[in-house]
Amino acid sequence: MTRRIAIAVDGPGSSGKGTVARGVARALGYQYVDTGAMYRAVALLARRRGIGWDDGHAIGRLATELRFRFQWDGDILRVEVDGEDLTRAIRADDVGQGASRISRYPEVRAALLGLQRELGAGGGVVMDGRDIGTVVLPNAELKIFLDASLDERARRRHEELLRRGEMVHLDEVRAALDARDRQDRERATAPLVAAADAIRIDTTELTIPRAIDVVLGLARDRTAG
Ligand code: C5P
Repeated sequence: MTRRIAIAVDGPGSSGKGTVARGVARALGYQYVDTGAMYRAVALLARRRGIGWDDGHAIGRLATELRFRFQWDGDILRVEVDGEDLTRAIRADDVGQGASRISRYPEVRAALLGLQRELGAGGGVVMDGRDIGTVVLPNAELKIFLDASLDERARRRHEELLRRGEMVHLDEVRAALDARDRQDRERATAPLVAAADAIRIDTTELTIPRAIDVVLGLARDRTAG
């Protein structure tokens, strides 16, 4: 029997992380865990409850109280919080901005870390985020750091937002993505950085199916041993 390993996929916004992680999980029959969805859900619920995104203590408390449930069917990851399906609502661009604002608080990160580690324990999982290889699953058998040029990532995010019916200008999308990455890279707790033992894959000129193949090849090497 082949080993079922943990695969960490980190990288900046719109680097292709989610699509690659989902494709790899689907091909291997693994669980897929999107940790960004957790931060997004916390930001969304904080706003709904009238908690400001700058109130780290209150948001940290909120994060400990939420009950997350993920359902991965090999195609779509459904995200439920306290029984409500938030799959679509958390994808809005302003919720992503909010997630980046609230994810800098150590209280918020600590509140989500236990669940993230629990979901990664035992292997057979592909988990994507910003600090999976460095903090959440430092012993993951395979760590991938996906990147792409800012222009290419902005183009992808813009396309995705248009598909969702959010009418925004490409320049605005690029500026927002750049600001969010800077915030994620420069924060003190669990900043966005490649783990020393991560394999870097630049997807600027690589199609997503090709990137999935590269990761699957690396995963096969790890599971064969
Ligand atoms: O990947 P996604 O765009 O869904 O992530 C939203 C935000 O959540 C990121 O900009 C980042 O600030 C935060 N995040 C994080 N650590 C993770 C995953 C996401 O800080 N592991």
